[in-house]
Amino acid sequence: MAAVLEGFGDLRLEDVPMPEPAMGEVVVRIRACGFCATDYKAIKGIRRNVTLPAIVGHEPSGTVAAIGPGVTHFCVGDDVIVQPSGYCGYCKQCRLGNTHYCEHAFTTGGDGPEDVWPGAFAEFMKTRENTLFHKPPSISFGAAAITEPLSGAWKGLIQHTELEVGEDVVVIGTGSIGLLCVMVARAAGAGRLIVVDPSAFARRNALRLGATHAVNPTEEDAVDAVYGVIPDGPDVVLEAAGPIEAVELMVRMRRRGTRWNVFGITTHERFDLDGGYTHFLEGRMDASFGTTPLAMQRAIKLMETGLVDAEQVISHRFPLSEIHKAVDLMGQPDRNKIIINP
Ligand SMILES: [Zn+2]
Ligand SMILES: [Zn+2]
Repeated sequence: MAAVLEGFGDLRLEDVPMPEPAMGEVVVRIRACGFCATDYKAIKGIRRNVTLPAIVGHEPSGTVAAIGPGVTHFCVGDDVIVQPSGYCGYCKQCRLGNTHYCEHAFTTGGDGPEDVWPGAFAEFMKTRENTLFHKPPSISFGAAAITEPLSGAWKGLIQHTELEVGEDVVVIGTGSIGLLCVMVARAAGAGRLIVVDPSAFARRNALRLGATHAVNPTEEDAVDAVYGVIPDGPDVVLEAAGPIEAVELMVRMRRRGTRWNVFGITTHERFDLDGGYTHFLEGRMDASFGTTPLAMQRAIKLMETGLVDAEQVISHRFPLSEIHKAVDLMGQPDRNKIIINP
């Protein structure tokens, strides 16, 4: 069975044949898959770079059900975590470690490169062997489905923005990816860790998961509030919200030397920078998208060692047969990560 998107707004549960693995490919029996906002946008037709019919869902964990010829590192029965962004491993960018820039990239169920394979809101999904990681037994299938977003949080905050122990951090927007950024910042030894979010539910969760302060930007000026807590201003600001207003808020929050990460926005609105002011601030703008095998490996290690308890961001679980309930819930504000169990 699979949830097949036949048309925008038309998601149907259908029987689909089990995929056949070709050379170097594996078929995974999906146990859990995170529900990402990009999946919701495809289902609702908010994002239309989708070739229909499609199967979305790109945050899966499961068990190897079949292997194609030439597969050498995984056997039927192995529990695995799938990196949804497939790559060749041989092009220049892959060899530099930037597999998310791969010239031959594909994605299973996700947004991004043109080559999209059927995703994981299904009992079975096919992918290439090099996208698999062995799932440590101590990590549940549900938590394992958080690996990809957690790896994105690690890549943005630690690899790209190089967060150091003791630094003061602001995270703007604490939906599930923002919360994972908070948990990574806490694990990395952030000093003051301030979150900015208009939702009381989101602020409560952030405080529970390691934030030291929470600011409601609809009640007070968020820049004043942040400088009230840290008069010297933040060392790091990361925008994990999406709207251009969040990016503009981040720009206003900079002080000398602040590193700021354009992490959440994926749409094409413009924002202004004062050239001379930016010059004399000597700050650094970073950005980060997608994931890499390095980031996936680090995310698995964060969970395996208990530095990040990914179960904490899961608010709801649904069997695949109830996916329409999950779709409705995705449109509601008071939720964190929703897990589908095919
Ligand atoms: Zn996603
Ligand atoms: Zn490549």
